[in-house]
Amino acid sequence: MPELIADIAVFAPLRQFFSYRVSAELAPVIRPGQGVRVPFGRRRVAGLVVALRRGSGEKLKDVAELQAEEPLFDQPLLELCCWAADYYRYPVGLVLRAALPAALGSEDSRVGILKDFLYRPGAVSERPRGAKQQELLEFVRTAGEATLSRLRLEFAAPHAVLERLVSQEYLTRTEIERLRDPFLSDPIKADSPLVLTTEQQIAFDRLQQAVEAQSFSPFLLQGVTGSGKTEVYLQTIAEVLKQHKQGLVLVPEIALTPQLVGRFRARFEAAGYRIAVLHSGLSDGERFDSWRQIARDDIDIVIGARSAIFAPLQRLGLIIVDEEHESSYKQGEGFRYNARDLALLRGQKVACPVLLGSATPSLGSAFRCASGQMEKLELSRRAHAGELPQVELVNLAGQAPEQLLSERLQLEITAALEAKKQVMLLLNRRGFSPFLLCADCGQTFRCPNCEITLTYHQKVRQLRCHYCDYAVEPPEQCPRCEGHQLEPEGFGTERLEEEIAQLFPAARIARMDRDTTGRKGAHQKLVRQMMAAEIDILVGTQMIAKGHDFPGVSLVGVLASDAVLNLPDFRAAERAFSLLTQVAGRAGRTGGGRVLIQTYSPDHYALQCAATQDYASFYAQEILFRQELGYPPAGHLANLVFSGIGEGRVLKVAEDFAAHLLATGSSVEILGPSPCPLFRLRGKNRVQILLKSAKRQALKYLLDYADQWKVPAGVSLMVDVDPLDMF
Ligand code: ADP
Ligand code: ZN
Repeated sequence: MPELIADIAVFAPLRQFFSYRVSAELAPVIRPGQGVRVPFGRRRVAGLVVALRRGSGEKLKDVAELQAEEPLFDQPLLELCCWAADYYRYPVGLVLRAALPAALGSEDSRVGILKDFLYRPGAVSERPRGAKQQELLEFVRTAGEATLSRLRLEFAAPHAVLERLVSQEYLTRTEIERLRDPFLSDPIKADSPLVLTTEQQIAFDRLQQAVEAQSFSPFLLQGVTGSGKTEVYLQTIAEVLKQHKQGLVLVPEIALTPQLVGRFRARFEAAGYRIAVLHSGLSDGERFDSWRQIARDDIDIVIGARSAIFAPLQRLGLIIVDEEHESSYKQGEGFRYNARDLALLRGQKVACPVLLGSATPSLGSAFRCASGQMEKLELSRRAHAGELPQVELVNLAGQAPEQLLSERLQLEITAALEAKKQVMLLLNRRGFSPFLLCADCGQTFRCPNCEITLTYHQKVRQLRCHYCDYAVEPPEQCPRCEGHQLEPEGFGTERLEEEIAQLFPAARIARMDRDTTGRKGAHQKLVRQMMAAEIDILVGTQMIAKGHDFPGVSLVGVLASDAVLNLPDFRAAERAFSLLTQVAGRAGRTGGGRVLIQTYSPDHYALQCAATQDYASFYAQEILFRQELGYPPAGHLANLVFSGIGEGRVLKVAEDFAAHLLATGSSVEILGPSPCPLFRLRGKNRVQILLKSAKRQALKYLLDYADQWKVPAGVSLMVDVDPLDMF
C-alpha cells in the first residue's frame, strides 16, 4: 500500500512545499492545517501540513513531530492562505506564519498561556478561625466560585490564606487558564436596534436574504457619511447570529475606532454574545488569547484590522469590510496582501455574503458594481435630521503662501466659536514644518538613509525622517555657511496648532496626529474630550477624518488640499476626493454644518465633486481617465522593486531584467526601469519596473516567467501585486 505523504509549508522564505513521510504512529492523528516540526537540512524547522496524500515515500524523510493536537487552520482558511501566497508571490510558509499570532508563528516567543486558579467551596462546611479566612471563605461561598485574579482584586495578599483554606478543605482549587482582556474599559451600556429608515430597510432586506441563503454574494453598501451604515451592519450581524453563524468585521485601524467597537459591544454583549478584537494595538499575549478563543469557537463576532481576515472562525456567516476604500487594508511591506480583496475570496471559499461599506467606495468596488460583479445597496441620505453639510471651495489664488488661514476661514472659525460649536482643521502633514532652511545660504537637511528632506518637529527639537524615523537634533548653526538663521519653512500640524493658538487665544485647542497619539490611550482621550466638548478646535492630519462622530462640530476647514491632489500617483484624485468627502462628513452631524476647502485649484473635478458630495460624477470622470491609461480598475498592475547598494549596479540589474521581460513578447506593458519616487530608502537604492496589463492572465504569465530569473547577489527583488503606494 502506498504510504501517507504530507506536503508541508515550512516557516521559511521558500516558495515551494516540501514532502515528508508520515510514520504509522502519526498517521491516525495528523491532519491538514496542523503545526509540525520537520527535519530540514541539518536543522529541525516548524511548518504546517498543507495537504495529505498517498504515494511513494521511499526517498522522503519523516515528519518529526506534531506541535499540537488541534489544527491551526481549517480547510477554507488554508486554501485562502495558499491562494494568497501564490497570488501575491510570497513564500507560503511566511504567509501562513503571518496569518498566525506572533506567539504561535515564532519559535522563540515568550508568550504562553496564563494560569489562574479557580476556588470553590470544599467539603468542610463549618467556619474557620481567623477573620481574614472567614471573610475570604464567605466571599467564595456567596459567589459560588472565584478566581485567584478576582480575589487578588478584592482582597490584599490572599495567597497564603487561600493555601490554608485549601489545605483544611474549606476550599478546593483547580488550575485554569486566564485570558488577557483587551477591553480595559468598564462594562458597556446595552442598547437596542433602531427602527430602520426606508433606505436602510431596503438594504437590510437584501442582506437578510443573502445571509439566509448562506452562499457567496458580494455587496457594496454605499452610504453617505452619517447615513447609518453601522446600524445596517449591526442588524445584519444579528441575523447571522440567529443562524448560529459568526460575523467578521474588518475596520481600517481599530485603535482609531473605539466608538465602533463600543457600538458592537453595546448591541451584542448584553445579549450574551462574545466579541473578540484583533489588531496591532494588542500585546502579543492579548492577541494570542483572542486568537485561541476564536479558534476554540468561543467567539461570535470578531472585529479587527487587516490581519483579522485570517481569524480562525469556522462558522463564518458574513464578512463586513467597513470603509473599504481605505488604503490601510493593503499591507505595505513583506506579505503585501489586500485584506479587502481577500475578504471577497474568503467569502467565496466559505460560501457567505461579503459586505463592503463606504461613503466613497474605491474605484475598484464601484467598477465591480457597474460591471455587475457586485450588488450595490445605497443610502443616499443621513439617518436622522442632519442634512449633509454645505461645502465651499475657497480659492487661494493671490494669497501669500505664508498665510495659512484665509480671511474667510478665520471669520467662520470666529463665528463657530461664538456659537459655542467645535471646529476641526485638517492639514495632512505632521510636524512643525516640512523643512528647515538656512536663510543665508539655502542649505536644507536631508535624511542620510532616504535623501528626502527632514521634517522639523519643534516641541521635541528634532529633525525627523517620516519614512525611516531617523532623527537628529537640529544644529544651532548652518553646517555649510555657519549662519545662525535656520528657519522653519512651510506648515505642519504642530505649527498650525501654534498659529491657531495665537489667532484664537481663548479657544481650547488640541492636535490629533501620529505624534500626539503614539501613547496607548492618547487617541481615545482626545476622542473623549471632543465628545465632551472640552476642545474647541481640533487640528490634525487625515486621522481626524476617520471613524468619529462628533455631534458638536459645525465647521471643518481643509488647509492644504493641493498637497493631496498633487501627489505623484495616479490615484491622487481618488485619494483627495475620498479624504475631502470623508472629512466634510464630520461637520454638522446634527445639522447645519459647514465645510471650507482652501485650494489653488478650485476647478479640479475631484474638489468640485467633493464639494457637491457627488460620488457618481466623480466616478464617471475618474474611470474615463483610468480607462484611457489602462490603470486599475481598467487594468492590472504589478510593481517590481529592485534594491541594493550601488546605484549603477541596481539599475543595471533592473535593465537586464526588463530586457528579459521584453524578449518574451508579452502583451504586458513594461514601464521602466526607473528610480522609485523615493530612490534611496533606508540606505538602499531602489529602481522599479511597473507592469501594466489589460488582462490579469497575461500579467500572471509574465510574473511566472519572472520567478525563474535569478536576481544576482547583493540586489533584492520585491514583487508588489496590485500595488497601492508606489513610493
Ligand atoms: P455611518 O456609519 O453611515 O457614517 P452611522 O451608522 O454612524 O453612520 O449613523 C450616524 C448616526 O445616525 C448615528 O448617530 C446613528 O445612531 C444614527 N442612526 C443610524 N440609523 C438610524 C435610524 N434608523 N434611526 C435613527 N438614528 C439612526
Ligand atoms: Zn529616512
